[in-house]
Amino acid sequence: MARCAFCDADFKTGPGDVLLVCPYCGTAQTTEGAKFKDHYMIRVHFDQYEAQTTLLDWVSKQLGAPSDLPVKAKFLQGKQVWYPFWISRVDADTDYRGLGKDAHFHDEWPQRRGAYKRIDFFWKPESGRFTRRHEINICAVKEIDEDVRAHPIPTRAKEYFSHAHAEDYGGEVLHSNLTEEQARELAKKIAYDKQTHLILDEVDKIEDRNDNIDVGETYLVHVPIWELEYRYGNDKYRATVSAPTGYVIESKYPRSMSFRAGGIGVGLIMLLLGIGLVTIAMGYLAIPMLPLYQGGYAVSGGLLAILGLALIYKGASSKEAKEQV
Ligand SMILES: [Zn+2]
Repeated sequence: MARCAFCDADFKTGPGDVLLVCPYCGTAQTTEGAKFKDHYMIRVHFDQYEAQTTLLDWVSKQLGAPSDLPVKAKFLQGKQVWYPFWISRVDADTDYRGLGKDAHFHDEWPQRRGAYKRIDFFWKPESGRFTRRHEINICAVKEIDEDVRAHPIPTRAKEYFSHAHAEDYGGEVLHSNLTEEQARELAKKIAYDKQTHLILDEVDKIEDRNDNIDVGETYLVHVPIWELEYRYGNDKYRATVSAPTGYVIESKYPRSMSFRAGGIGVGLIMLLLGIGLVTIAMGYLAIPMLPLYQGGYAVSGGLLAILGLALIYKGASSKEAKEQV
């Protein structure tokens, strides 16, 4: 529990919550009660009904989705959750010296252009500089779906956090598990790693580097997500839809019977073909014209059989499909 330093209300906090948003007055504050001003949000543009419609529209276009899904799907639950993210602008400037791999080629074979009798590999010193501005996005809660964590946030559309706006949809506003200081530290580290990747695209070994990493504007932004659940037939499916953009972040959906049956059919054909090829390769079936490719037959036959089995398994299992946008 915590007491709001601004409206005096008591409210619930979880372990690890260090930057709190009062659910009564909406003020973002540290655990010591200092107001945090750089608090933004992305506005809701899709209410629950619109998010559901967008979701069904998307799902019905997916491969193998039953055609009666938009009519038969019944929504069971809809909850709006506001996830906190820290966004930092980081200016990074890195000088580096390193070694790249290079090679000398000697004595080209006269009959085979591009083939050499001798190749000497050696390390070549290289140096350079990368000046980049990174926008680092750090999710501020630990308990979050991986797809929600990674979904694109339209930060250009940010505006100051409005408690009234979050309340319009009964949204739950989550506290942050990171303080501004911790978020800045982390942003610096992530920017450093991004610079390292840039350098390693140019050289294989880094000998020396000099980094100037400046963490600039850093703010907390709350992003509203619709967490939906619907029933189709006897099963329930979950989905998450971005409330600002209507983007389907993640959705599980049923596959129609005919789609699954098709999968089983193709799988069976592949399995039989694969078994046939392996049989030929092992010499149980003597085909005299094809003596040279036994190894190839065994490998491709084996692969075909495995693929076939996988298709049959996927078709036979009624497990729902999950697809990313
Ligand atoms: Zn308050």
